Amino acid sequence: MKIGIYPGSFDPITLGHLDIIVRASGLVDKLIIGVLQNNAKKPLFTAEERVEFIERVIKEKTNLTSVQVEAFDGLLINYAAQKNASIIVRGLRAITDFEYELQIAQTNHKLNTKIDTVFFTTSVEYSYLSSSVVKEIAVYGGDIRQFVPDCIVQSVYDKYNSIRSV
Ligand code: ADP
Repeated sequence: MKIGIYPGSFDPITLGHLDIIVRASGLVDKLIIGVLQNNAKKPLFTAEERVEFIERVIKEKTNLTSVQVEAFDGLLINYAAQKNASIIVRGLRAITDFEYELQIAQTNHKLNTKIDTVFFTTSVEYSYLSSSVVKEIAVYGGDIRQFVPDCIVQSVYDKYNSIRSV
């Protein structure tokens, strides 16, 4: 069975991520979406919330049955080996992503030659899209409906409302 890992922060999942999930799942028998738990980026949503959002989106927006979502911590290459994955999936938006991603992919291959990184180039309609952009718009109450799957739009606004009411 060919297993792939798609790791990331997914803070929150966007339509760009969903596009990669759907395309990458055609490449493997099982795609594990690894949600990075202890992230230096200081995520807005907890790992549990990010996992739940992705599960909700997979269930409501796709008919994929070969996708599993879980939080992980520690070194990605060790996690991938532990899951018997043979590929790591990453998305490339712009040339600015490339240099960093190349370095990580080469390092990971050095650490474990049995695991390769596969890059998906973003679909043009999502090339500008990132979780950070979504958060910058949502914090000011802007319209994020064209950036994230509709089933999580309200949850993103609710998070900011709950932070404000503390
Ligand atoms: P990370 O913090 O690991 O970069 P992200 O959640 O920002 O986590 O992204 C996870 C993966 O999804 C990365 O490979 C990133 O390049 C890719 N990605 C993010 N946004 C898009 C997009 N709009 N189109 C295609 N790939 C994307």
